[in-house]
Order: sequence, then C-alpha cells, then structure tokens
Amino acid sequence: MRDAADIVVIGGGIMGLSVAYHLATLAPAQSITVLEASYLCSGASGRNGGGVRAQWANELSVRLMQESLREFRAFAQKHRINTWLRQGGYLFLARSEEKAHELTRSVGIQRHAGLDTELLGPAEVSRLVPEVSSEGVYLGSYNAKDAVVFPWPFVWGYAEGARALGVEIETFTRVLGIDVTNGAVSAVHSDRGTIRTKRVVVACGALSPGVARLAGVELPTHPHRHEICSSEPLKPFLTPLVADLTDGLYFSQSTRGEIVGGISDPSPPPGPAQNSSVAFLARYARALVARCPRLGKVRVLRQWAGLYDISPDQGPILGAPDKPDGLYLISGFMGHGFMMAPVVGKRLAAFIAHGTSSSELATWRLARFEEGRPLAPDMIIG
Ligand SMILES: Cc1cc2nc3c(=O)[nH]c(=O)nc-3n(C[C@H](O)[C@H](O)[C@H](O)COP(=O)(O)OP(=O)(O)OC[C@H]3O[C@@H](n4cnc5c(N)ncnc54)[C@H](O)[C@@H]3O)c2cc1C
Repeated sequence: MRDAADIVVIGGGIMGLSVAYHLATLAPAQSITVLEASYLCSGASGRNGGGVRAQWANELSVRLMQESLREFRAFAQKHRINTWLRQGGYLFLARSEEKAHELTRSVGIQRHAGLDTELLGPAEVSRLVPEVSSEGVYLGSYNAKDAVVFPWPFVWGYAEGARALGVEIETFTRVLGIDVTNGAVSAVHSDRGTIRTKRVVVACGALSPGVARLAGVELPTHPHRHEICSSEPLKPFLTPLVADLTDGLYFSQSTRGEIVGGISDPSPPPGPAQNSSVAFLARYARALVARCPRLGKVRVLRQWAGLYDISPDQGPILGAPDKPDGLYLISGFMGHGFMMAPVVGKRLAAFIAHGTSSSELATWRLARFEEGRPLAPDMIIG
C-alpha cells in the first residue's frame, strides 16, 4: 500500500469506485487509492434490487437519471462485462387519492423534462400487466425505458476500469482515523498503515457518519435496515418493475426469472443491523400476493438485508463541507444511490479534479440542513 496519495477514497462501494474511476479519467496524473474495509460489494452496492429509473418527482433527478440510464446501457460494452440489464420499464401504482395526486404531478414534471411517461387508469394497468391486480388502484405511471440490472458487475466494472487507469484498490483495509492539520486534511490512518494525502472522499454509504466524524464533520444521516428477497426462477411473465407508492412494495423479474422484491419497514431496528427477519417475509408475501396473486405458491430462495442511508429530507449529500479543506462527501442516497452513481460519481470527480460545479452539487450541499432549507419530497421507494 502507498504511504502517500493525491486522493484517498474511503469506501469501495459503487459511489467510491465511480468517483475513483472518473477521477482517474479526468486527472490521470493524480495518484488515487481506494480503501475498503471489507470486500467489494459488501455494502449496499452488493445488496440492492438493481432498479434504475428516470421516473422522479423533480427535474434534477429526472435529468440526472436520463443521463445515468444512458451510462447503464453503455456500461457493458465500455467495461466489457455482462450487466444483465433488462429494460422492461417501471410501473408505479397509487392506491390513494393523495398518492394519485402526487403521481400526476410527478408525471407532469417528467414529461416537461422530455420523458414519455404515461399515466394509466386501472383498466390500462391491467392491460399492461394482466398478472398484476389493479384492485384499489387509482392511477399508475409507466415508463418503458426504466430498467433492472444485476448490481455486482457495475461495482466490478468500475473497479477494473479504475485499476487499469492506475488506481490502487485496497480491500480489507479499514480507515480508523483522519488527520486534520491547520484546517486541512493531511493523512488517513487505516488498520494497514497511514497514507499522507490532502484530499479525502468519504464514500462509506450508511456508515459515512462515523467516518466523516473522524475529520470533525457531523452528518445528519442514519442507517436503516432494508430487507429484500429473491424467489426461485420462473418462466418470464413480468415485464416492468412494479412499485406501489402506498405501502412501498416493489418487485421485478430478473433476466434469470427470479422475482426480486421488498417492502417498506415501518419499524426497522436502530443502527446498522443487516439481519433478516421472518416478519419481513410475512409482510412482503401478503402484499405481493395481493398485488400479484399468481405468486402465491412461489418459493423464496434467498433473503438478505442491507442499509439505506437516510438523511432528514431523504435527499443526498454531495460535495465539500465548509471545513476541513480537502474533504469531500458523497452519501445519503437512501434506496436509490446505485442508479445515480454513474452520474454523481462523475460530478464529484469533476469538482475535485477541476473545480467544476453542477446543479447536483449546488442542490445537495450539506449546509442546507443547518440553513433549514430541506429539499422537497421526491418519489422514494421504501
Ligand atoms: C436492500 C436494498 C435495496 C436497494 N435497492 C436499490 C435499487 O433498486 N436501486 C438503487 O439505485 N439503489 C438501491 N439501493 C440503494 C443503493 O444500494 C445504495 O444507495 C448504494 O449502493 C450506495 O452506495 P455506496 O457506495 O454509497 O455505499 P456502500 O455500497 O454501502 O459502500 C460503502 C462502503 O464503505 C465501506 N466502509 C465503511 N466504513 C469504512 C471504513 N471505516 N473504512 C473503509 N471502508 C469503509 C463499506 O465496507 C462499504 O463497502 C438499495 C439498497 C438496499 C440496502
């Protein structure tokens, strides 16, 4: 392991690796080291549902995700790795007047941004996906270009791409301390040694608060367990990912035929617990079978959990805090960071390498919480 680097990225999830890869392309002369406490894919980036959508409730996210979807589609060829991307669309369902109103507003914003999302009545929902019950559904929204992917190849693709450009990736290397000298970052201490550096990116997902605190920065985010499961493979029958805005149920069929899905948990255990529960399976099964009765006999093969990284307004934190100099943040992405990582990683890398600002950096500043200027609610699952 190097004992000095121009930039140290802490965290080898999709965010840290996307930043490292884009930094290496934008600033090839810089030495970059990624320190990952465990193995690649050990965090939320290896545990998520692989949903990738441009249906959002604000123009910034819609435009960001239009760009990100292009990156997801190009990734396999660019990084020479199979990503199991399946563009079957996303179908959102609203089962209350309030949610139907929100959905109508969101679709207006999406269409204004150039997306051809359709608003569907219950009969049109049934025509689109006959296997899904439209009972109690007020409205649906459907965009055929949204997708599901298998997440791991994106983590591996960025890691391999970064390595090929000279980035050092040290797995099983936990950061234990960050030195700040005269108001600026000066070194990172890990359980495998110290690296002198003037620039540090904290990309530790839901564990970011503890790491940012090492440099004296308090993040208002907290970890929230989110459970998910995968069934035996079934003959393909379900084209879109179905997401119910009322109870947070979502499910999709992977390219291999498995039904992968989850549901909101009203009372997750506090802290970074990642255990699985029977209560989740019961809640998910009840909601899933009500929405898709033909899944009543499907067998669950695998159940796991990961951490959502939640901020007070459910929006991300991106960019440099007021102090110390040389520290950068990229966290708070709740249940949708995977889909945004190609673009936000590129934006943060451009800021670190060339000082380039962007709407995302301006909107997702940490300081908004202290200033009492939270973001408006977005279209969140879970
Ligand atoms: C069940 C579930 C379903 C989801 N579904 C979706 C979805 O469908 N679509 C979507 O876009 N997003 C989804 N998400 C969210 C998405 O997975 C995350 O937003 C994204 O993966 C966050 O990436 P990250 O790199 O910030 O964090 P992580 O992937 O968690 O990576 C952080 C890394 O930092 C490392 N680390 C922590 N502390 C230290 C330390 N002290 N030293 C060194 N390394 C450290 C960790 O080991 C970890 O590998 C889901 C999340 C979960 C849990």
